[in-house]
Order: sequence, then C-alpha cells, then structure tokens
Amino acid sequence: MTGKSSQLFAEAKQYIPGGVNSPVRAFKSVNMDPLFISKAQGSKIYDADGKEYIDYVASWGPLILGHARPEVVEAVTEAAAKGTSYGAPTESEIKLARMITEIYPSINKIRMVNSGTEATMSAVRLARGFTGRDKFIKFDGCYHGHSDGFLIKAGSGALTLSIPGNPGVTSGTASDTLVAQYNDLDSVEELIDANSGKVAAVIVEPVAGNAGVIPPADGFLEGLRKITEENGIILIFDEVITGFRVALGGAQELYGIKPDMTCLGKIIGGGLPVGAYGGRADIMDMIAPDGPVYQAGTLSGNPLAMAAGIATLTILKEENPYPKIDKLAADLSEGITACTAKHEGISVQQNRVGSMMCRFFTGKPVVDLASAMKSDTELFAKYFKAMLEEGIYMAPSQFEAGFVSTAHTEDDIKKTVHAHHKSLEKIG
Ligand SMILES: *Cc1c(COP(=O)(O)O)cnc(C)c1O
Repeated sequence: MTGKSSQLFAEAKQYIPGGVNSPVRAFKSVNMDPLFISKAQGSKIYDADGKEYIDYVASWGPLILGHARPEVVEAVTEAAAKGTSYGAPTESEIKLARMITEIYPSINKIRMVNSGTEATMSAVRLARGFTGRDKFIKFDGCYHGHSDGFLIKAGSGALTLSIPGNPGVTSGTASDTLVAQYNDLDSVEELIDANSGKVAAVIVEPVAGNAGVIPPADGFLEGLRKITEENGIILIFDEVITGFRVALGGAQELYGIKPDMTCLGKIIGGGLPVGAYGGRADIMDMIAPDGPVYQAGTLSGNPLAMAAGIATLTILKEENPYPKIDKLAADLSEGITACTAKHEGISVQQNRVGSMMCRFFTGKPVVDLASAMKSDTELFAKYFKAMLEEGIYMAPSQFEAGFVSTAHTEDDIKKTVHAHHKSLEKIG
C-alpha cells in the first residue's frame, strides 16, 4: 500500500527474521506488509511515506500519555546527558519503587527488570522458590511474555499466528504448566485437586488483554483469591497491560482484590524497556542478594527507563486522566456499536474495560477464549485494511487490545467512528 514501507520490509527481511523484531508487528494475519514508522506525536503516528494515522496501538499499551509527551521526552533527555547506564544503584530506582508501592498496597517491595517477559518469568521462579512446589496454573489465551513455561496455550502473537505445539519448549518444562479456562473457576479447582500440594502459583491477567479484551466475570477474581489462599498457592496478577491503565492502581484497585504478587511493565516504563515484579515482603525477601532465588540484570533499573517511568506516573497521579480516557473509549465503543447496527449482515461485539478495548466480528457476546475464537478473522483482516486506508492504525490482529491515550481528542474519536462506517461499507 505504501511504497516506502514495502521497500523497507523487503530490505528488512534480508537481515531480520520475518523482517521484524517481534512477530505481532508483521501484519501476517491481515495479509499485508507492515507499516514502517518514521515518527509519532500525541495521538498520531506517521509511516515511512509520511502518511498520518490515528494510533490505537500505543506501542502495545505503554503510551497512555500518547507519543512524545514533552515532560517524558525532557526527563529522558536530561537523564541521558548524565550517562545512560552505570550498573550501580541510583536514587531514581528508589523513587519509582516508592511511587509504585504507594499506589499498590499489595506491593511491599518491587524489583525492576527490562521487560514484562522477565517480570513474569522471575515471579513464577520466586513463587516456586517460596513454596517449594514446581507447577503453576495459567489460563488458555492469556499471554505472559515468551519464556518457555508460558508458551503453552498463549495469547497474543502465538494465538494470532495459530502456532501449533511449542517447538523449542521441552516436554519437562511444559508438564509443569497447567492450563485452566478463563472465567471458569471449576477448571482451576479441578487442576488444583488433581495436583494437590504441587501448585506454586496461579498467574492471571485480571482483565484478559491478549485474546482481544475479555473482562473478568463477576466473582472470578474473588474466587481465585479464595481458592489460592485456601491451598497455600501464590496468586500472581499479571498487570503488565492493566497496571496504571484500567485505574491508577490497576485491575486490583478496580476490582478490589489483593494478589500476593504483581507483574508490571509497559506503562511504568513510559515507552522505554521496563518490567517489574513485586508483592508481599516475605516473598520478595527470598530474592538474591537477601535470599536464595537468583535473578539479575545488567541494565535493570536503567536511569533512562526510570526517568521515563517517573515522569509518566507523576503525570498520571497529578492529572488523574482516567475519567477522561475512559469516557473517550466509551464514546468510541458506543459510536462503533451504533454505527454497526446500521450495517445489515455485520455483527461486532465491542468489549471494553476503561481505556482498553477490542471489537470482535461475531454476533455473540465474547466472555472467554472459546467465544473470542468465534470471531470472523477473515472479515477482521478486510476491516483492518479498510481502516488503515481511512487513516486508523489498529493492532493487526483480532486478538489484541486497542488503547485510548490522554492525547486522543473527541475529534479523533469522531473520525474513527466515521472511518468505521466507511470501512463497513467497503467490506459489507
Ligand atoms: C506485553 C505483555 C507481557 C510481556 O511483556 P514484554 O515487555 O513484551 O516482554 C506480559 N504480560 C502481559 C499481560 C502483556 O500484555
């Protein structure tokens, strides 16, 4: 579609596997070449040909303040001028850790890492070290990064690309991952009963955001809290997307549940590579150097990433933008639902929690992975292409969330609903 992006993609494929450094970027399931991005500002992103799009990918979640927010750019620039990394502790690490622990009462102590993948991998290792048990439970369609044990029935790119089995993951590793069904407490209880005394942790996305967006059913998270407590199992909330997104205090604030451990990432790095895991002090004190569970990182707590994170969280605390972005997302969702109703033969389910949302091309409500899978992905691919032509940049997969940022405006929302209308006309 755009000359320069296709040219760059052809060139990239010579040196980079698949031309991309993360498979979700490849536009493969929508049968297109990916856009190469040259710059972004506020709610807009620009491709290599200079074409402007309203962006709902937000770098897959981190950019809740939109692109290149001046305070964040300034904080990173200032930090860079003082040196990009020391491999030694800095005051900025204390500041970000203090900010997070003040907002998340369940987090007494927190360790910074470089990605969400590292956060979840380390959290499960720690839960195993703490409990002396080997197995853990995850949910079908949830995504927790790409470390071996999590690639069993994973969401996001693995789901989009329907990657069968888990080449490269040993059967030994896979056998320690137990898979339950999202929003189905019975499936969790069955696994715990069948593996009595062997389950170290249950890890869950408190709002599923990597199989599209699926809210937790009434009582689901409460039930998980109760079952894990009764069985001495560590409950880990993977809030890499939902942390500072669905509320300042994440899904645990929104739904009023206190997990034992929490994984964060995305927003807390303000667009720089960051992850973090934290929780109860008695658990966290088992990490090296105080305890025997090892976890380390050359660039962990990197001063540029800390500066971007502190700047981002400071603005979120001061401005409380949640009512505003939630309303924009609600306006967009309602606009899309109302507009779709006028197009005969096309059904869309618009799922939304706060400013994270997803539209599924199916006539039935989407409440779990099975209902999400009913979505017409071929129709989605056509829709995606039409929206792109109308200047709307969405995640190139049916099974990913879209995000509204503080930089989006009512005008952006109106334009997006109009683009939706024109796209349905094109594909209907
Ligand atoms: C993105 C994501 C991860 C992985 O984070 P990376 O920084 O990509 O490694 C983990 N869990 C959830 C819920 C995510 O959305």
